[in-house]
Order: sequence, then structure tokens, then C-alpha cells
Amino acid sequence: MEWIFTRLPLWWRIPSPPTVRHVIYGLFLGFSLSLTSTSIALFFQRRKQERIAAQFEARPIELRSDEVLKGVTGLIGNTPLVRINSLSNALGIEILGKAEFLNPGGSVKDRVALRMIDDAERQGLIHPHTGSRIFEGTVGSTGISIATIARARGYDATIIMPDDVAEEKVKALLSLGADVQRVRPASIVDKKQYVNIARQRALEFGKEEPSSRPHLMSSSSSTVVVSTESDDDDDADPLKHEQSALKPRGYFADQFENLSNFNAHFEGTGPEIWRQTNGRLDAFVSGAGTGGTIAGIGQYVKPMNEDVVVALTDPEGSGLYNKVKHDVMFDSRESEGTKRRHQVDTVVEGIGINRLTKNIELALPIIDDAFRITDAEAVSMSRYLVQNDGLFLGSSSACNLVACIKLAKKMGWKEGQTIVTILCDSGNRHYSKFWNDGYLAKAGIPVDQSIVEDLLLQPSA
Ligand code: PMP
Repeated sequence: MEWIFTRLPLWWRIPSPPTVRHVIYGLFLGFSLSLTSTSIALFFQRRKQERIAAQFEARPIELRSDEVLKGVTGLIGNTPLVRINSLSNALGIEILGKAEFLNPGGSVKDRVALRMIDDAERQGLIHPHTGSRIFEGTVGSTGISIATIARARGYDATIIMPDDVAEEKVKALLSLGADVQRVRPASIVDKKQYVNIARQRALEFGKEEPSSRPHLMSSSSSTVVVSTESDDDDDADPLKHEQSALKPRGYFADQFENLSNFNAHFEGTGPEIWRQTNGRLDAFVSGAGTGGTIAGIGQYVKPMNEDVVVALTDPEGSGLYNKVKHDVMFDSRESEGTKRRHQVDTVVEGIGINRLTKNIELALPIIDDAFRITDAEAVSMSRYLVQNDGLFLGSSSACNLVACIKLAKKMGWKEGQTIVTILCDSGNRHYSKFWNDGYLAKAGIPVDQSIVEDLLLQPSA
């Protein structure tokens, strides 16, 4: 027997019993070491989560409690988090949506409109029931929120919007008594772009009053306030100052650059989400139109726990995805010769942008990842949610939920994690485009739930 063993090549010979023993000991030792280090890491992770959670007590939602609220603005905020059962069950993790469509103006922008008007009043820039008018350039949601709160607070509202947004938003604005101007979509460098027109109209508001000249009461890069008062020495004379405050003023809200937008989320939505999840949050996913939502919530949750992944949802035609991934604000569909009629050419409304705003600049440092969502994926998600959850949502909410799946798959999350996203508005704001199968067919966008089913079946990274 011995001769066979010596004739075999070295690597073929059966190892001697001590060698076998050592190999087994080695394997056993390696296995136990890796088990121990994993459980130590898990132990510390759990301790950290418990420490964070201990600082916050889960509270019932204030909004639906039995207190009497002071007017329509009392209904804003404190929205519930809703578990998206179909996606959570399919993925094995918690997908929670902040139900912003329950705000009285129907969207997440109610918080921002309220904060912008509150801040302007606090700074003495506008005064209620003085014939003052709030001007804003918006694709719709912010306009509806401003028009709602303006009515409740004693202001008028003028909303300038692109002429290609869903018709029902215009109807809502007109019903709320807003003055609506619809303009052709244009680049921000064009003075006929809707935001630029809103700023200009606020400036000209004083001129609209006969026998008076406009007087700039306060002006910063984000705020234009105009009154019809003509005397420059108001501040010196308290009586004149008071009289001036009672004159009609034009106020340009400027959601893109106004940091009241950021603060509405940093001081409102962010802390609400943290409390509602007891600090047990692994990721926050959001799109960006002005950037206020992702910046405010992201800047709030990151310092609470730097491990929370903040991920951007970006629709087709927007430059933000490339900005996050490659630090270049450019979308290939925007290149020379390929640019279509609209700056951001997608059926998704409310998110996506091709320029940097003050609010987006605050978001960029805390965004960890970005997901590009196609129109077909967003449409598929919206139909899937109605079919499986009875949730009838708008296009940006659908994009957010597609991004939640993509993030979970990419991170390899299969059990125990929690992703929170924003359900920005309801499907009833989108009947004429996103929820109109005829419109989608003409635009070549398939209505096919299986796109989401396939995404859910894809293997994790
Ligand atoms: N969804 C909808 C429907 C919106 O109108 C907006 C605001 N344009 C957003 C999402 C994005 O929010 P933000 O402006 O805070 O980035």
C-alpha cells in the first residue's frame, strides 16, 4: 500500500491524520470567528438602533385626533405613514409611504406654501386682507397649495404655469379663485419661462394700481415684494410704516430658491418620519422638483443616523441623475438636436429638473444614490398599486415606489429593513395624462403591470 502512496503526485496524496486534524481545526476556527464577528456587528447595529429609538417615542398621528383644528391650515402636515402591503410582502421588507396626498390642498406642497406664507408674514413682507397678491411659477401642485392657503389667509394668488401640465390642475386653480397664466415651456434663461414671468409680474404688481409707482419693500435673491406705496421714508415714521403695511403688495414666493421650502421639511416632514418609524429607518427615497423635500428630510435624518441611505428618484429627461452619479447636470435627451419640445419631456409631473436651485444644492451633499425611472415603469407601478393595494397615486409617487424596489434589490435587502418614501399626490390630479391610457398610447408609453412584477422578481445584488 505504501508504494502506491509514494507513487501518487504530491497534490493527490491523501493527507496524513494530523494534517486532516489541523485542516478541520482551521475550518472550525474560521467558521466560528466569522460567526462571532457577524453577531458582534449585528449586536452593535441593534444597540445603535435601540439608542436612537429610545430618544423618540412613537406617537399617534395628531391630524386625525379629536381636537378641533383652526381652519384649513390646521389640516396640513402630520400625515400618516402607510405600509405598501403588496411591495412590502413581495420584498420581505417594510416599504412605507408618507401619505402627503391627504393634505387639504392634495399634495406635499401644502407644507411648503404654508411655510412660505408664514415666513413672509413673520418678516412683515405681506399682510392679510390688504389686497396683496402672491405670485408663483409652478407646474401646478404648489400653485394649488398657495391658492388654498391664500384664500384662507386673506390674499389673492396669481399662478404662472407651463401650458402642458394636466388640465385638472388648472381647473382646481380656477375653482380656488386663482388668476392663472399658462405659458409655453421655455428654458430658465428665457425671460418668458414661467418662474421668470412670476417674478416679473410680482415686480409689476404695484404698477397695476393707478396713480402709484412700484416701491421695492424688500428684495433678496429669492424674494420680491412690491407695494404701491410711494414714500421712501416709511421706516422713520411709524404711522407711515403702518399705512404702508396696509397697502397691497405683490409677493413672489419663489419655491425653487426660497429656503422656507427646505425648512418646511427639515422642521416638519423629517421629524415626523423619524418619530413615526421610531428612528428605525434604513433608507429614504424621494424625487426632486425644487429639491425641498429630499433636502429637508435628508438633512434631518442623516445627522440622526449617517447609515440611512438617501436615494433620489429621477424621471426621464431630468439632469439630476447624472449630477448625482457623475457630477454633470446633463441628460442625453437634452443634447443638441435631440431636445424635444419640453425641457423635461416625460409624462411624470412635479419631479425632475435641469438646473441647480438653492434647495437642490442643499440636497446634493446628502444624496447617496440615484435611480432613473422610465415613464413605462412609473405607469406600471401606478396600475400595480391600484390592482394590489387600492392606492390611486400620482406619477411622482409611482416613480418613488419603483425606486424603492430598485434600491432594495441593489442593497440586497430581504428582511427587516425599512424604506420610507413620499406619496406626493393622488391620481386624481393626473386623469388627463398619466392616468389616461389613450394619451399614453399616443405617447408610446405602455400600460403594463408586468414591468413591476418583473422588477420584483429580479435577483438581489
Ligand atoms: N411630486 C409632486 C406631485 C410635486 O408637485 C412636487 C413639487 N414640484 C414634487 C413631487 C417634488 O417636491 P420638491 O419640489 O420638494 O422637490
